[in-house]
Amino acid sequence: MNEEIGEYIIKNDHNLTISILELGGIITSIKIPKNNEIIDIVLGFDNYDNYFGKHPYFGAIIGRYANRIGNGTFCLEGKKYELKRNNGKNHLHGGIKGFDKVIWESETIIKKNEAQIILKYLSKDGEEGYPGNLQVYVTYTLTNNNELRISYKGETDKPTVVNLTNHSYFNLNGEGEADILGHFLTINGDYYTVVDENLIPTGEIKKIEGTALDFRKREKIGRRIKEAGGYDHNYVLNKTREELSLGAIAEGDKSGIIMEVYTTEPGLQFYTGNFLDGTLKGKKGNFYNKHYGFCLETQHFPDSPNKPEFPGVILLPGEVYTEETVYKFKWN
Ligand code: BGC
Repeated sequence: MNEEIGEYIIKNDHNLTISILELGGIITSIKIPKNNEIIDIVLGFDNYDNYFGKHPYFGAIIGRYANRIGNGTFCLEGKKYELKRNNGKNHLHGGIKGFDKVIWESETIIKKNEAQIILKYLSKDGEEGYPGNLQVYVTYTLTNNNELRISYKGETDKPTVVNLTNHSYFNLNGEGEADILGHFLTINGDYYTVVDENLIPTGEIKKIEGTALDFRKREKIGRRIKEAGGYDHNYVLNKTREELSLGAIAEGDKSGIIMEVYTTEPGLQFYTGNFLDGTLKGKKGNFYNKHYGFCLETQHFPDSPNKPEFPGVILLPGEVYTEETVYKFKWN
């Protein structure tokens, strides 16, 4: 533990090494030892001060509500709530000071076959406009099966909405090297949520068959990306609600590093860093251009608080919000 900046570094028996900050629970690096080389597969900064500045949620925990809420408002039990608007007229990723920008309390537990970091944060009643004191726990566990397990827990004292995720930008060939268009991807989802021009779901759930969104079979990310206008879409995963199941598989075409994503969540936002524009200077002075990273954000569907037909996101006092996502890495 580096006390001054609140950084944890955990390593497993295969020398897979992950670094996490108390600030935003940010994953600053995931280092994979391959052929006498260390490949860091997430975008971010060497100088941690930069994480306090403006950046597109590199590696961070997102909450209280990941993704967009239309017009920054929703009704719950007959009461209208106004959230902070930070994306045009919409609310994005928890608002102006979301869970990505707060300092989490932390403790670490080292067990025989895994290392665990437990992060804890109390989001106060009214924070960013949300009702209820929400006590959140996010646990990062690194196993000797090369899995990074992220489990989310929350409890509230008033009815509220919750949707948590992690916003890591991956480049499985190594961050900063080049774009991710040559990567292969499979997504286990037959449908997606259609959005309007402000990326707010219209409510329609459509088949991906015959569209540029079809990743049911392993495809190069770049193959139809132009047609799609860059990917920034919520896939409806093929699964039953509670189970932890395989949502996606990504593969670095140059490195051969594979990442499998398992989740209890019903949705997956596949985002190809369309808004990266080369102005952000990342690790080793690398500039992050468009499509230099991709995110696979496991989540409930965007704008669910205003879409009663989508899987529910309401948390009531006495209930426990629990979700889990596992990133499993394979290399040889
Ligand atoms: C969203 C994008 C957004 C980005 C911000 C992603 O999760 O899907 O629309 O621009 O986060 O970095």
